[in-house]
Amino acid sequence: MQEPTPCDLLVTGDLILTLDPNSRTLTSGAIAVSGRTIVDIGPAETLRARWTPSKTIDGKGRIVMPGLVNVHNHTPLMITRGMIEDIGFAPMYTPGIPQGHWLTEDDAYALSSLGMYELLRAGCTTVVDFYRYPSACARAASELGLRAVIAGRVHDAEPGALATGKYDYSRAIGEASLKENAELIERWNGHDEGRIRCDWAPHAPDTCSDDLLREVKKLADAHGGNIHTHLSQLPLEVEAVKARTGLTPPQLLDKLGLLNDRLIAAHCIHMDRADIELCGKSHMTVAHAPIGNAKGGRIAPIMELKEAGARIALCTDTFSGDLIEAMRWAISMQRINRQGNVLDARTVLDWGTREGAEAIGMGDRVGSLEVGKRADMILLDNRSPSLAPLVDGYGVLVHSASGHDVDTAIVDGRVVLSGGRLTMADGDAIVAEAQKVASTLWGRAGRQTIG
Ligand SMILES: [Zn+2]
Repeated sequence: MQEPTPCDLLVTGDLILTLDPNSRTLTSGAIAVSGRTIVDIGPAETLRARWTPSKTIDGKGRIVMPGLVNVHNHTPLMITRGMIEDIGFAPMYTPGIPQGHWLTEDDAYALSSLGMYELLRAGCTTVVDFYRYPSACARAASELGLRAVIAGRVHDAEPGALATGKYDYSRAIGEASLKENAELIERWNGHDEGRIRCDWAPHAPDTCSDDLLREVKKLADAHGGNIHTHLSQLPLEVEAVKARTGLTPPQLLDKLGLLNDRLIAAHCIHMDRADIELCGKSHMTVAHAPIGNAKGGRIAPIMELKEAGARIALCTDTFSGDLIEAMRWAISMQRINRQGNVLDARTVLDWGTREGAEAIGMGDRVGSLEVGKRADMILLDNRSPSLAPLVDGYGVLVHSASGHDVDTAIVDGRVVLSGGRLTMADGDAIVAEAQKVASTLWGRAGRQTIG
């Protein structure tokens, strides 16, 4: 018999859902990790004989699965959570609330830390996050241990005018936002062996002029990676783009060379048949935000977009960190929209893991538990009443569980959440600091907070 080999970590679990291409599941399974990488997956008994780990996570009473991949988010916008849902839609278009341009870099860091904490607590180990002060977001993700793709919020429409429905384009604003993103890339791209990556993110086709969109395309082509944006999110956006260019938002992005398989566009709600066909043909990715869309009273035609050839991935878009909840909402909304059972648990689980990872160019690293991939995984408490009865594992997970059932998260082989608590930062201090920032900024918007 061969001598056992040393490894850094052995994770066992009552049930392992690998979400690999063969949908392999293991009862009483184990995963061996060396450094940042998964080196073995199999029956717990076999792996215990084969490996001598320096650390073991005993997953008794736990389900082990890949960490969730959330492809569109803006952590500093946590400032409006719990209020914007009843008084407006996209914060940038809503007066009477704290605006992004009021934040200082320290404010953005405090709010981003809160958002990153919530995401990790709910099992999102990879997140795409972009906003003003992107370096603050990168720092928060880096310190808490998440894998993240970070970008700035590139636009040249003047935000103060936008909140009142007017479009004033300013060269100075555009250049400042480009500079911010360039500095982000310089400082953070590739940090910690690629755990933090940086991309380009023009905010939306109406908040960016044609010239700015052309400039971003040039920069993103030279940089590589994805381009992240919002697309056909609001009737206001569609009307503004038509008035300015005579084109719909997807037609404009197509004309400027941005509509392709590198594009990840959130929302994609207000599209006609021709827009859907155009987006499908481009093989772009829709960052589907079912919770945010529903709160705005809208349903995105994602089944039509998928049938036309687009890739679908999932996001929480800031106001919740719970991607399992988003999976459930995606199913319900499409069943309402198509009046039938058009979407199931297994499909949306893929959208929130493998498809998301592939969309952001990380399909070879994360999104499933396979030998050779990075060790990004979460453990859910199998003894939770919301995770019983367990039949195929997928159904109860999507239709009944929530992010609160996650108790451990591992990124790059490092335990970053244990027993629901952060291991690399003080979660209580993060919540208190974010509350302090919120109280000040809501006070400036004319509203006293009770916290
Ligand atoms: Zn967004």
